[in-house]
Amino acid sequence: MTTTERSYFDHNATAPIRPEAAEALLAALNRTGNASAIHGEGRASRSRLEDARKQVADLVGADPAGVVFTSSGTEADVLALTPDISRGGEPLACNVLVTTPVEHSAVLRGHRFAADRVELIPVDARGRIKLDALDTMLAGHAEAGRRPLVSIMVANNETGVIQPVAEAARRARAHGAVIHSDAVQAAGRIPVDIGALGVDMLSISAHKLGGAPGSGALVMADPDLRPAALIAGGGQERGRRAGSENVPAAAAFGAAAESAKRDLATEMPRIAALRDRLESALRCEFPELVLLVGDVERLPNTSCIALPGVPSETLLIALDLAGVAVSAGSACSSGKVAPSHVLAAMGVPERIARSAVRMSLGWSSVEEDVERALGTFRRVLPNLLRRRAA
Ligand code: PLP
Repeated sequence: MTTTERSYFDHNATAPIRPEAAEALLAALNRTGNASAIHGEGRASRSRLEDARKQVADLVGADPAGVVFTSSGTEADVLALTPDISRGGEPLACNVLVTTPVEHSAVLRGHRFAADRVELIPVDARGRIKLDALDTMLAGHAEAGRRPLVSIMVANNETGVIQPVAEAARRARAHGAVIHSDAVQAAGRIPVDIGALGVDMLSISAHKLGGAPGSGALVMADPDLRPAALIAGGGQERGRRAGSENVPAAAAFGAAAESAKRDLATEMPRIAALRDRLESALRCEFPELVLLVGDVERLPNTSCIALPGVPSETLLIALDLAGVAVSAGSACSSGKVAPSHVLAAMGVPERIARSAVRMSLGWSSVEEDVERALGTFRRVLPNLLRRRAA
């Protein structure tokens, strides 16, 4: 972060908008024209929208015709999670949703599936799904003649842990399942390719990768795959999501997606090095600190730490007052102080889970941010530790 006043470690909640995205947003805001209108202004707007669709599709290796712009990552997840799916007009109804207990609440609620039609794949102590348990569940459904919709996130928002989605998708496909993956935290941070993952639908969100908030996409591997529309009305987005498209937000999303993809190869190791420097210094200087996930494949930008006995909010506020922004537990729904369902599913004891703090870096993070955070930890931690002991 270039400002000398604060250091921002909450990219997993919302990343700062990238300059290219802000520029595209403003340029599009300053032009008029409904993307469905036939006049010149409308056609220019349509052209900006379709350019953005290509940029977003390119980020995840998809056909632009498979991209449905939505109002958020949440809406993309909700649109995907329905029993009412068809392909090329042929019904592909799904009777049960098979997902994981570590999903974001945007998925975990099951949406258009009845509560008793949602099943959770057990996870291990790092929050990774147990593939043999998935096999058993899939076999049971196949035997009963049920087609599952399987939804497994690429990377977790609280811990950064990466799921074996490609392997799970391969197994699920063999049982005729439809497969969705929430790539909201992964897209733009690690390579995400819809074909390589072997999933049918992928959710992504603009504000996690430097676009504008309130903008997302559900990407279909096959543009003819169609989850029943959530919002009916006009025929926008090929009838998959009605409502005049938010062209400025899409333009910003496209610009952010393009720059995230362009910089991925250099940004991944750069951000991982910053995160690793932060973690190793903290672990070395403060043996009381617990690194909740370390030795597992995870996003390069996310660190989940806990100071047992010190509530997350206490550490968060102390850091915030000193100019370091972090989040407690699942910060997407800010204000939430309940212990994280992700850490609970991993079997993390409640005392530790209640102390968990997430630090997430991104495109704007620089070495000074890490040094500022370390300096701040050095100032505030001894005091918090003394109070904890008292
Ligand atoms: N899925 C995951 C994994 C997330 O982390 C989030 C938000 O943090 C969402 C979905 C929801 O995305 P949005 O904030 O765009 O609605």
